[in-house]
Formats: sequence, structure tokens, C-alpha cells
Amino acid sequence: MKAMVLTAPGELVLNEVAQPRLDTSRVLVRVTHSGVCGTDFKIYSGAIPVRHPLIMGHEMAGEVVESDADALRPGDRVIIDPELYCGVCFYCRAGQTNLCPSGILLGRDADGGFAEYVVAPQSHVFPLSDEVDSQTAPLIQVLTTCLHAQRQVDIFPGESVVIVGLGVTGQVHLQLAKARGAYPVIGIEPNAWRREVAEKLGADVALPPGEASIHSVLQATNGRGADLIIEATGIGPAIAEGIAMARLGARLLLFGITTATEVRLPFYQLYFKELTLFSSRAAKSEDFPASIDLVGRGVVQLKPLVSDVMPLGELKTAIGMLGSDSAQRMKIILEHGINQ
Ligand SMILES: [Zn+2]
Ligand SMILES: [Zn+2]
Repeated sequence: MKAMVLTAPGELVLNEVAQPRLDTSRVLVRVTHSGVCGTDFKIYSGAIPVRHPLIMGHEMAGEVVESDADALRPGDRVIIDPELYCGVCFYCRAGQTNLCPSGILLGRDADGGFAEYVVAPQSHVFPLSDEVDSQTAPLIQVLTTCLHAQRQVDIFPGESVVIVGLGVTGQVHLQLAKARGAYPVIGIEPNAWRREVAEKLGADVALPPGEASIHSVLQATNGRGADLIIEATGIGPAIAEGIAMARLGARLLLFGITTATEVRLPFYQLYFKELTLFSSRAAKSEDFPASIDLVGRGVVQLKPLVSDVMPLGELKTAIGMLGSDSAQRMKIILEHGINQ
């Protein structure tokens, strides 16, 4: 089969490779669409060390080709949960499969979705309903991580929520918060186009970062500050701004990933406001059917988050686009034509 193979950091080539082997507990899927993620950029550049050669890609949708499972028939459209876990360790047995120390991410620790075919355990293949279109389906993996995160903070109807950062995950978080009945839901984002998208998707208001917006958030929340801050950038100053917008006793969900080992934060404010911190990693199986359902019923819209659609063969260009600033870019989806 054809696959985009990372042979060394920065070296991506379209190669002919052996089709993945199938055994009875696994499903062979022809990948039709995949999403390009910041993690792929870090793997590509070498910031996340991996073995080479590697087929990257962990956001993928496709069609079942071969399967022994009755619930998964050839031709069924599916998405794949790329987070494999051992099932027998302390964490897996406690239901915290997303924390499994032997966990494997397809596309990082094993071959992933930037190829014609991929195999995955039956337990990690989820059928799509007719209402979900294949092109946006890879984004459901992203939605599962947001849903898993919001399970920890349990938004109550009428609570005020500030979302710092309106990239793909911020836009998903705002839709989930609205679905929980939060009010107002306020987005903070420097990019005007992303603010516009957020307001179309239901944000009560979207504001640029800065002092004036901190003031606006206080005004919109009876002078107190927001009940819940969802930080979706992983950037130090943005976390600090979120803390400034939090009310006394608020919750702060640190969703954005940072690998920085030093960040300047107003620690005194964490104490003084008695903030409760939450963090969240990946997702669990339970989040997949729930996310497919939310998209199928239109509760969460993913189509407005797709800014570019390109053929799989242009993966290198797509990864380059992630590194460059563009006014109107969010998710890049790759289409996997059979004849590429
Ligand atoms: Zn990702
Ligand atoms: Zn485990």
C-alpha cells in the first residue's frame, strides 16, 4: 500500500510499504480522511522523539475492509480511537485507560493513519452514523478529548465560562459549554476571524486578549469574574490572563498542552482566589460514541473548523502550513484517494 513515511526528522516520503497484518481481534480499515494535528508537527520536527520509519496520523476516519466483529461489517464508515491501552494494569482496571503507562498512540508509537490502510483493535473502531460526514469525522477524535476534559469540570446550567484560545479545541469547548447551558460563554482570542467563527458557533461574545477584555468579563459576570476558565492555548501569558478573569473560588481547566518547564504565573492569585485546578489527558472509549452522537445531532458543529482540505500526498505542505501563521487556518483535513 501507499503511505506517507517519516524516515527521519523532517524527512517525509510517499512510499510503497507492506499492508498492515490483520488478526482476529483487529479490524482493517481503509483510511478515507485524516486530520493533521500539532502533535504531528512535533513528531515531524523531532521535538517528540519516535522510531523511524514511522507512519504518523492519529485523527482518522475510513471504511472497514475486513473484520471478524459482527458489529463492524465491510463498508461500514468508522473512526478509530488511536489511544491503545494494555487493559490489565492498575489504571486500566480502575477505568483510567487514558493514563495507562503502557499506552500506545497510533501515529506516534506505532504506525498511524497517513496511509491507505490501518489496523486497530475492534474495541477502538467506532461506527459513524449517517448524519456524520466523513470529511469532518477525523475531528471527532479532537472532540473526544474536549468531552473527556469537560467531564472533569461538570458545568452547571447558568454558570459563566471563559474559554481562552479559540483554535479548534477552544471552538469545540465553547459548543460543549453552551450545550450544558452555560451563560455567558466568553471566548478570548487575538485572531478576529476565529472570534467571528466562535460567535457563529454560539459564543455569547468573543474578545481579544488584554486589559479591556478582563474588564468586560468582570462586567458580564456581575463584577465577580467567571465560574470556570477553560485554558485552550498552553501559553503562559494566556493562562495568567485566564486566572485574572476567574472569580474567587472558580475552577480552572488547563486543557492546552505546554511542554515548557518554566512559566510565569500569578501564583499568589491562585492562592488568593482559592482556584481549583483541573487537567485532562486524551480521552476514554466512552467519549467516542458520545461524541459521534453530539455531531450527528448537530449539537457540536465541526465543519466550520475545517479550513483546508488537501490530498494525502501533500502532507509535507500541510505540516509546513501548521508552522506558519495564517489569518484563516484551523484544521487541515487530508483526503486519501486510492490512486495517490
Ligand atoms: Zn491530535
Ligand atoms: Zn494499562
